[in-house]
Amino acid sequence: MTWLVQPSLVNEPFSDPGLFIDFRFGRRALLFDLGDLTPLSPRQLLRVSHAFVSHAHMDHFSGFDRLLRVCLHRTLPLHLVGPVGFGDRVDHKLKAYTLNLLDEHSCDFVITASEFNGEGFDRMCEFRAREGFRQREVSPSRLAPGTLLDEDEFRIAGVMLDHGTPCLAFAFEEKLRVNVWNEGLKSLRLGVGPWLNEAKRAVRRGEPDNSEIVIAHDLSVPLGVLKQHVLRTGRGQKIAYVVDAAYHEKNVDKIINLARGADQLFIEAAFLDADAGIAAQRQHLTARQAGDIAKRAGVVRIVPFHFSARYRKQEDRLRSEAEQAFRV
Ligand SMILES: [Zn+2]
Repeated sequence: MTWLVQPSLVNEPFSDPGLFIDFRFGRRALLFDLGDLTPLSPRQLLRVSHAFVSHAHMDHFSGFDRLLRVCLHRTLPLHLVGPVGFGDRVDHKLKAYTLNLLDEHSCDFVITASEFNGEGFDRMCEFRAREGFRQREVSPSRLAPGTLLDEDEFRIAGVMLDHGTPCLAFAFEEKLRVNVWNEGLKSLRLGVGPWLNEAKRAVRRGEPDNSEIVIAHDLSVPLGVLKQHVLRTGRGQKIAYVVDAAYHEKNVDKIINLARGADQLFIEAAFLDADAGIAAQRQHLTARQAGDIAKRAGVVRIVPFHFSARYRKQEDRLRSEAEQAFRV
């Protein structure tokens, strides 16, 4: 089975945290956090439809400027999600620039900023280039509790953690994976086309086998036949992203629930456990704590990152401490 998306860290683990989630098909990407985005090319940034910002500490949000600069003249909207107060933070960023060249003839680039409280959205703001990015209140999306985005092929869940300030953690969950088997297409003498997406959607929605999938104006095939010969299904991929969090029971429970069974858990491992006192003071996780959480969440693979610069020469220690706690 091929996955829907490919996640990769934006920077090496001592630099700003961030995860770029690239779709294999369809020229689209998502971002978790907007720290330093320098390693991402304009082409990659232009694909970003949604960016989810854990909190507004600089190492998680200063890359907004680059994203804005690259996307300013595109028509695809940019949807941002962050914790309480985020709408005004985006507004302040936009207000920092002289935008006298934007008017009703500008490209209709739209930014939305939604504030997520761990359950749902408290507020949503919209900023349109044609209005010089004047802040406008709009009504926030209503989704199932804990859901940030819900599309045909995937959903994004979020929880609010405590880092001295609210900090969001995210999980990308692909719904049922549906792949096309080319040999099957040949055996039924069917060509590829937009109908395949319709058929995949029908499978994901759990439609009955006798529902007819229209392939051309004079040809339709029962879904059951396609399921038997053409469409292969499997479990979807889950990717969890957890940064800045104090180590206490409430946070740990929330992280475990969010990350449960993830194929990959990207989790901060800021300090060595020998420095657990400093980690507690700064409200960050140690590598051992991260590994232990990953184990308790039953994830397949842990990717520790967001290392404190003090360990630049001890990267292996951080990694092996996390890995050991995960493996015991
Ligand atoms: Zn941080």
